[in-house]
Amino acid sequence: MNGVSVDIDLARAWVQAIAAAVDQHKDRLTQLDSAIGDADHGVNMHRGFSAVSTALDGFVPDTVGALLVKAGTTLISSVGGASGPLYGGAFRAAGKTLEAPTATPQEFAAALAAGLASIERLGSAAPGDKTMIDAYAPALAAFRQQADAGATLAAAALTAADAAEDGLRATAPLQARKGRASYLGARSIGHQDPGAASTALIFRALAETAAAR
Ligand code: ADP
Ligand code: MG
Repeated sequence: MNGVSVDIDLARAWVQAIAAAVDQHKDRLTQLDSAIGDADHGVNMHRGFSAVSTALDGFVPDTVGALLVKAGTTLISSVGGASGPLYGGAFRAAGKTLEAPTATPQEFAAALAAGLASIERLGSAAPGDKTMIDAYAPALAAFRQQADAGATLAAAALTAADAAEDGLRATAPLQARKGRASYLGARSIGHQDPGAASTALIFRALAETAAAR
């Protein structure tokens, strides 16, 4: 629908674009995780989204949500690290709200909100803890503001991607309070969070996919 709303083809193209971005940025994600984690975030994301690509091949759902639920379930079953259940649960929660063949930007904002709530619940983390939430929460806020103002999907997603990247940069001075990075205490300060970096890729992929319509 020309950058206006989300349909099943766009959702599929988004997930494939995430897989391509993760493939391209795998080493950077792993480098970030080697500084404050266990150096597997790029590997985890790559394994997960490769499995998602395969799972979606030939899968023809009736709703946008079914596609996202399938992606989430595949992430949960294919990724061992914390990011697998967190992202997998988020895609599943988002997908469960989208029970039609298309979604308006406002409906998609509600789905993104359900995804964030899932991450916060499962990880018992909040903004400022230096996690993926620090990219996701500002991206969602930007997306929702645009959607509520009547923006197209493409415009809302572009603003959200910029906000996610700002959020990623803002994780550097934070001390980690959740996940493996929290074991480092003050030594986690000065490094960007790997999960915030992958979340920024996910929102950038949405913006590029929507813009290409
Ligand atoms: P693991 O930490 O198990 O090795 P990954 O390296 O794949 O898993 O993912 C690490 C990322 O997961 C972190 O950079 C952070 O963004 C995110 N993360 C870890 N724990 C939590 C949590 N409790 N809540 C939210 N996000 C978290
Ligand atoms: Mg790790």
